[in-house]
Amino acid sequence: MSDLRELYQEVILDHYKKPRNFRALPDANRKLEGYNPLCGDKITVYLKVEDGVVKDISFQGSGCAISTASASMMTDSLKGKSVDKAEAIFRGFRDLVTGKDQSAEDLGKLTVFTGVREFPMRVKCATLAWHTFHAALEGEVKPVSTE
Ligand code: ZN
Repeated sequence: MSDLRELYQEVILDHYKKPRNFRALPDANRKLEGYNPLCGDKITVYLKVEDGVVKDISFQGSGCAISTASASMMTDSLKGKSVDKAEAIFRGFRDLVTGKDQSAEDLGKLTVFTGVREFPMRVKCATLAWHTFHAALEGEVKPVSTE
């Protein structure tokens, strides 16, 4: 189990040091900010949604390792997905880190965040990017806050 945990940390650390899709998206048609005051995480999620598909997704911001790695892995896993599929992955991830685990969604690498459920304060770090993505998709324009 401890080996497994080390592996998980390795993946999270890799995405923290080299965040994927960490840039502004000039042709984004959705853009939303999200804040987690408890930890100080700030994020902006950019989306290009066309024909019911997440054509492109990126983010910028500053935050802890968990929030940055989660945002990085989120962009990796949602890019190119249909909006319906992306929303299903969002729900699956939210359930995973809150311990509900009811989703039949195959979350692949995202399961590295399973351990977060043992640290309630970290759940907000892990889900910040996802809630921001979800709100942006729904056309929300007010910044998202976890508080
Ligand atoms: Zn955080």
